[in-house]
Amino acid sequence: MATRTPLIAGNWKLHKDCAESVAFATELKDALGADIDVDVMVAPTFTALYPVCQALGKSPIAVAAQDMFWETTGAWTGEISAEMIRSCGCTHVIIGHSERRQFFGETDETVNNKLKAALKAGLVPVVCIGETDEERKQGKTFEVLDTQVKMGFKGLSAEELATVVLAYEPVWAIGTGNTATPDMVQEVHAFLRKSVADSLQKELANAMRILYGGSVKSGNIAELMALEDVDGALVGGASLDTESFSGIVRYK
Ligand code: PGA
Repeated sequence: MATRTPLIAGNWKLHKDCAESVAFATELKDALGADIDVDVMVAPTFTALYPVCQALGKSPIAVAAQDMFWETTGAWTGEISAEMIRSCGCTHVIIGHSERRQFFGETDETVNNKLKAALKAGLVPVVCIGETDEERKQGKTFEVLDTQVKMGFKGLSAEELATVVLAYEPVWAIGTGNTATPDMVQEVHAFLRKSVADSLQKELANAMRILYGGSVKSGNIAELMALEDVDGALVGGASLDTESFSGIVRYK
């Protein structure tokens, strides 16, 4: 079995301006120190990316953008390319978060375009997938997730996908306090790994980190991380203060 270094990722969403982001990143850097045995990533807003990267310097905390556009340059008012994100000092990017899908019209096609551009620019993409409450109630969870993975990864080889991180975030669990049960999470993660193994390659599936997201906090991280196919967490609300986020990073 491949060893997968856990990734604990914080998605700050629309929180914290430049000064607050820099202050928080600095506090987190000091609180975590250099000796962390998991990978850690934070995703500030676009406007705070550069100063946060500067503030974190050579710390082991990686910085991600929360979204990106797939074109490199041109008349695309308001958009930001993968290269621009790289130029701020970021190494990672979140793609296809359910809030982007739900409120900003993102589809599996746009996720696929963004994924291709992120990989081309050398960013580590964290690709989000997840079923809605209604889809789960209708028994469509696996069908929905399988489509999101296959369409999202379309046209990319196992080699190209080697750095991709998948984040399973059931939409009904995001920001609601309703974490999926450990059984539900393990069942889905095992399914996703099998789906990647069957459609692409077994080695890729064994090496791919699959994060869980949806109301993760310091009180439930340990039981989630104990699951065989959970390789980390994408954390929203509980990533916004030092004590709760460092509690999650130090789940062991
Ligand atoms: P939450 O958000 O931890 O606040 O539920 C998770 C996410 O949206 O990534």
